[in-house]
Amino acid sequence: MLTFKSTSLLFILSLALCGLLIYFFSINPFWLLLPILIFKLTIIYGSATIQSNFYLKAYNTGNTAKKHIAITFDDGPTKEFTPEILKVLAEYNAKASFYVIGKNILGNENLVQQIHQEGHLLGNHSFSHSFFIDFKSSKGFVEEINQTTDALEKIIGKRTTLFRPPYGVTTPNIATAVNKLKMHVIGWNVRSLDTTKDDAQTIVNRVTLQLKPGAIVLFHDTSKKTVNVLKQTLNFAKENGFKIVSIDELLNIKAYE
Ligand SMILES: [Zn+2]
Repeated sequence: MLTFKSTSLLFILSLALCGLLIYFFSINPFWLLLPILIFKLTIIYGSATIQSNFYLKAYNTGNTAKKHIAITFDDGPTKEFTPEILKVLAEYNAKASFYVIGKNILGNENLVQQIHQEGHLLGNHSFSHSFFIDFKSSKGFVEEINQTTDALEKIIGKRTTLFRPPYGVTTPNIATAVNKLKMHVIGWNVRSLDTTKDDAQTIVNRVTLQLKPGAIVLFHDTSKKTVNVLKQTLNFAKENGFKIVSIDELLNIKAYE
């Protein structure tokens, strides 16, 4: 499998090979640029694609033998939309997981409590969700993750082990931090793209086309559109015999310490 370690090893070997070819066979030194370019592109792909498990092991699919799927929400809680999302989930008796941004917890403590009391799981989606978060050191990531876990613990009395990296981007420093904190990194294999300009029906089509046993669906509880998309997705799941289960059940892991 293509990981950061194996890619680095291949890079060093190809550089050495190029060096030998330049020295003994006088090939054009510009050939050195080829492994450098491939290495850079692989790093970009690995960082941006959580499913590649490039720097760390993320859970991107559940057991495919059962027609079970999990629904997940990022970037909340929000006063405007999280209550509506909870209402729809309750109508369908579906349990989901919410990867909250720490700074959004302030002033929304009652919502966090409601998510918990209604049987959904709370996960960590960093504290700041800053655009520049991926430049943080591993210590900086440990602080970000702990800040949110602490804020959640104050409300629900438990420490979450579920972490979803902002933007799904991973770095060596995130890997160090989550290993240190023993977090489960939760990815996805169905990206709804519900924060794009696409209309609700386009998003529903995209999600339902990709639904398969073991699916982990990524939504955001940050818009009215997602409320409608969720309703239609849950309808589709019901009509097609999919069972919505909690992420801990889908992955057979413990959500809290
Ligand atoms: Zn996010």
